Amino acid sequence: MKFVYSSAYQVDIGTHVFPTHKYYLIYDRLKQEGIISDSNVFEPEKPHTEDLLKILDKEYLDDLLNTRLTARTFPSEMPVNKGIINAQILCCGGSYLTAKLTRECGACYHIGGGFHHAFSGHAEGFCYLNDVVFAAVMMLEQGIKKIAVVDCDLHQGNGTAKFFEKENRVFTFSMHQEYLYPKKEKSDLDIGLDNGVEDEEYLQKLDFALTRILGEFNPDFLIYLAGADPYIFDQLGSLRLTLEGLKKRDEMVIIRAFKNKIPVCVVLGGGYATDIEDTIEIHCNTARVMATAFPPKAREK
Ligand SMILES: [Zn+2]
Repeated sequence: MKFVYSSAYQVDIGTHVFPTHKYYLIYDRLKQEGIISDSNVFEPEKPHTEDLLKILDKEYLDDLLNTRLTARTFPSEMPVNKGIINAQILCCGGSYLTAKLTRECGACYHIGGGFHHAFSGHAEGFCYLNDVVFAAVMMLEQGIKKIAVVDCDLHQGNGTAKFFEKENRVFTFSMHQEYLYPKKEKSDLDIGLDNGVEDEEYLQKLDFALTRILGEFNPDFLIYLAGADPYIFDQLGSLRLTLEGLKKRDEMVIIRAFKNKIPVCVVLGGGYATDIEDTIEIHCNTARVMATAFPPKAREK
């Protein structure tokens, strides 16, 4: 199984709830466990400007490239600095590379990405550029016919939902805490959860959603946002999933997709546990589940 990673994802953003050092910690942990070696990890490249313009308005891209504080960059809840903007531009290249490797091999894991609150014309949340949208758009161009985005981050994938609102080759699914940021957009399927939802209810609802997505939409490619923030000890949310519950969530998505011969492209999303060790464990569990279930027979489809 292959991984995509860049040390440039770690950026100094001052005191902030978003731990940009989690990427290195995940990489390091998986390397120590022998899941990552020098031969199965790949460095992303910065996308071309003309490709970025497929997902961004020109004025907004100009703001980003010139590090301008404007009405478009201001809502980001991140500092407007070159380091973090460049990291998120590179991250678009990272999710695209992950998608390409997924198409070749059946599965790939991006130690990064999931910036699903970014829109074509403005930043939001901690997101300047939506790497999920970028990867999906590029894969559609390369002949993938039906992509399902399975977004299991704590927060709704509002930027992704809005971008693909009228695109029927992409099915957007988001399962999230309902009474929380962001202002909701309309995904093809939304499951808004009440505060306090625990493993059992979460997994039941996910099972129902996957049956519908795999059965009715029948994708030939799946992008999975494996957010670590539905966790019981997350600082930003009020869902109550355990480490074990989140691992079962990963198994449900990944193994079911593999059984249906659907390639799975994983990106990370958020994770703000009180103890960063838990965030690392949740993200590493996703990789462990994937590595254990690999190799899929996805390419035979
Ligand atoms: Zn989130």
